Amino acid sequence: MKQWDWIIVGAGMHGSYLGGLLRKYRPHDSLLIIDPHDSLLSVWNDFTSRTGMKFLRSPGSHSLSESYTDLSCYAKKKGRSDEFIEPYNRPSLSLFNDHCEHIISEYQLQDHFLQDEITFLDHDGEFFYLHSLNNNSYYSKNVILAMGISHTPSIPHWAEKLDNITHLFGSSFSLADKNKVAIIGGGISGCQLAIKLAPHKQVTLYNPTPLKERKFDGDPALVGPKLMEDYQKLDSYTERRQWLKKYRYPGTLPWDIFQEVNQCIQDGQVQLELCEINGSNYKELQSFDQVILSTGFEKKVPGQSWLQPFAEKHKLPTAPDGYPIPDKYARWMTGLYLTGPLSELEIGTSALNIQGAHRTGIRILNYLYNQNDIYKFRKPS
Ligand SMILES: Cc1cc2nc3c(=O)[nH]c(=O)nc-3n(C[C@H](O)[C@H](O)[C@H](O)COP(=O)(O)OP(=O)(O)OC[C@H]3O[C@@H](n4cnc5c(N)ncnc54)[C@H](O)[C@@H]3O)c2cc1C
Repeated sequence: MKQWDWIIVGAGMHGSYLGGLLRKYRPHDSLLIIDPHDSLLSVWNDFTSRTGMKFLRSPGSHSLSESYTDLSCYAKKKGRSDEFIEPYNRPSLSLFNDHCEHIISEYQLQDHFLQDEITFLDHDGEFFYLHSLNNNSYYSKNVILAMGISHTPSIPHWAEKLDNITHLFGSSFSLADKNKVAIIGGGISGCQLAIKLAPHKQVTLYNPTPLKERKFDGDPALVGPKLMEDYQKLDSYTERRQWLKKYRYPGTLPWDIFQEVNQCIQDGQVQLELCEINGSNYKELQSFDQVILSTGFEKKVPGQSWLQPFAEKHKLPTAPDGYPIPDKYARWMTGLYLTGPLSELEIGTSALNIQGAHRTGIRILNYLYNQNDIYKFRKPS
């Protein structure tokens, strides 16, 4: 029976980033990264290509490398320094993805990757025991849960009554070879899609309110010490959840998307309908060849079906909304680390972004090296 030092569940941006960090700081530890898809970063590559995204919303300092300057150095070396836009040096998706491949190959993460889906977790006092959909068992001293958000698309109840409808992030999504398209949802993905389709199709974009511009999808103050210190003092996890809602800006657009989509609207390539589609007016969508929902994902605890029994058995702290309460080192219990949405009650708004992986990484390293900081990590000499 093979036992691992580390198993990471999920090979998205967070799992891959933390995998790279372990390869750098614990090169002699055995590591396995498990994901149901056939390669690292599959979900990222798939979703970003569906939207037609050209530039990341996040700065170039947030990449798959621990170093905040690595992506810009890589761009310089490759003669691609012009692939950033202001503010904050936001990289092109193509440059960002090539850099990800570079980091994956630098740490040989592919050699640590295994295609499988975890469906059960337990702990016997010494090892974590994981069981999978393919009926495999894995044992590890440490586990990092990096399953991302729930990947179940959020489908409004009225949508089930239409047969010309699909969700942008649904498993069966494909663009119909037809002309008249409605997009439901004017957040960043819906607007990116409208921009992508505008030259080829007759696009109508439905959003209940005027499109809103914001640099980031969350307040940067709830990342550094400025607000984080107050956030960390909140004992009530219901209150922390309220803060996360207050300082997060879903459905907003960075300036470039805001300008580009407004230009398409002005040029008559995209028609904007300020209207909420609901149970009483959804039938107007029947006149479109294809209706694409860009309505995000269901809000539920990732891995809930197997994490909840595990938490109950081991009496792990859980907030009233069902989310785990990790300690300041992002641990739910000794040896079990959380990242992404599972860690957001500790990490704050950035938990869902690439930066959240960096934040969790700092905490894990500080724990491993017996240091007491949550904002930075210095490797002992
Ligand atoms: C179109 C789009 C654009 C975005 N742009 C940005 C941006 O510019 N900047 C930014 O910071 N963020 C951006 N985001 C948010 C972005 O998705 C996250 O920052 C990042 O990709 C999240 O990584 P993750 O690893 O947490 O999740 P994911 O990429 O979702 O990866 C989680 C992985 O875990 C796997 N998994 C789930 N359950 C199990 C299981 N039981 N067993 C094994 N594996 C499992 C999943 O299959 C998946 O591969 C964007 C998101 C989208 C959709």
